[in-house]
Amino acid sequence: MSLAFGRHFLSIPGPSVVPEQVLAAMHRGAPNIYEGDLIETTYSVLDRLKKVARTEHKVAMYIANGHGAWEAAVVNTIAPGDKVLVLCTGRFGKGWAEMASTLGADVELLDFGTAAPADPARVEARLRADKTHEIRAVLTVQTDTASSVRNDIAAIRKAIDAAGHPALYMVDCIASLACEPYEMDAWGVDLTVTGSQKGLMVPPGTSFVFSGPKALAARARLERVSPYFDWAPRHDPEIYYRLFCGTAPTHHILGLDVALRMLLEEEGLEAVWARHARLARSVWAAVAAWGAGGMFRLNIADPAHRSIAVTTIHTAEGEAERLRHWCEREANLTLGIGLSLESGSGRPTGSALFRIGHMGHLNPPMLLGALSTADAGLKALGVPHGAGALEAATAALSMSASAAEQAAE
Ligand SMILES: *Cc1c(COP(=O)(O)O)cnc(C)c1O
Repeated sequence: MSLAFGRHFLSIPGPSVVPEQVLAAMHRGAPNIYEGDLIETTYSVLDRLKKVARTEHKVAMYIANGHGAWEAAVVNTIAPGDKVLVLCTGRFGKGWAEMASTLGADVELLDFGTAAPADPARVEARLRADKTHEIRAVLTVQTDTASSVRNDIAAIRKAIDAAGHPALYMVDCIASLACEPYEMDAWGVDLTVTGSQKGLMVPPGTSFVFSGPKALAARARLERVSPYFDWAPRHDPEIYYRLFCGTAPTHHILGLDVALRMLLEEEGLEAVWARHARLARSVWAAVAAWGAGGMFRLNIADPAHRSIAVTTIHTAEGEAERLRHWCEREANLTLGIGLSLESGSGRPTGSALFRIGHMGHLNPPMLLGALSTADAGLKALGVPHGAGALEAATAALSMSASAAEQAAE
């Protein structure tokens, strides 16, 4: 007898849970796209998105998933033949690199493995060696959603500056915006990409590119940009229609309006970041307890380098897959599949890795429900694991943010 009834719970690193309030806002007939509320709401959404990215500069919104924003970022800044340096800390940096390469960029990968953040000293050394400033841009992710490592975005900026290098600094925050602390302007990031379906709590289908003055100057140098992805008309449209190079993503705008109100007004961005940190500590505590008696292990050993939006967990071969299937079939819980962490390998994904997404619209009953269900799955399957995971998870959750910081010292 399966227990997979009741509300389905998606505990994966995107798409994340869509709040009822967002769904309710989207549940209406097509609005007027010529005049009235939708127009005002759109400009307000664009303005508030900049508050989430912490930038005063430009934003372009695309009817596309995160890959669309990756492509938009590249075609507006990089010409075929330009050299770009991509920092790889899992899979997502490589994905962006492959896209840039297909678009004609001369891509160099700086690989930091799959269980550590990018080392700013290596970035600095590579840029110092580039005496003629051939490298046009440095691309990185903030959170690599496959490895669950978090890169230190401010430290990489300092490394670029220490090398005295003029390269554009472009950051993928698709898995981290509105989860991890992020300060585009204060940290000196020239371009940020993100999507609607992770920390922003809205279905997949819209994505955003934020660009500062240096990114805008890079666009101005290009003779031609593909008309759909060109951000120039989207930044300063003389008519509303041009904001989207066609019909507006009406219902995404309505959903974003509510999601941004929840993030910026009802909770507050700093509180959103703190909530993610607290929930993440609860996940780590549970996994550490499981690991005491079995094969479970967090992919990122040092808590300081862990994402607070997603956690990648190693198991013995095959057990991650069995656990995911049990949770799906027996309990209506979807856990994140493991993405292969060996560069370019043909290793089947997911058999010894799984991920818990803890981003977006999430609270203790949701998270503890997922952790408890996984714990029950391990027992049901007879997978060896340490005891006390739930005790550890609730103890971590009961600690205030400051007490947890002290305990970590
Ligand atoms: C999810 C994700 C992407 C890809 O986004 P899609 O919407 O699936 O195209 C890219 N980068 C990171 C870091 C992500 O987490």
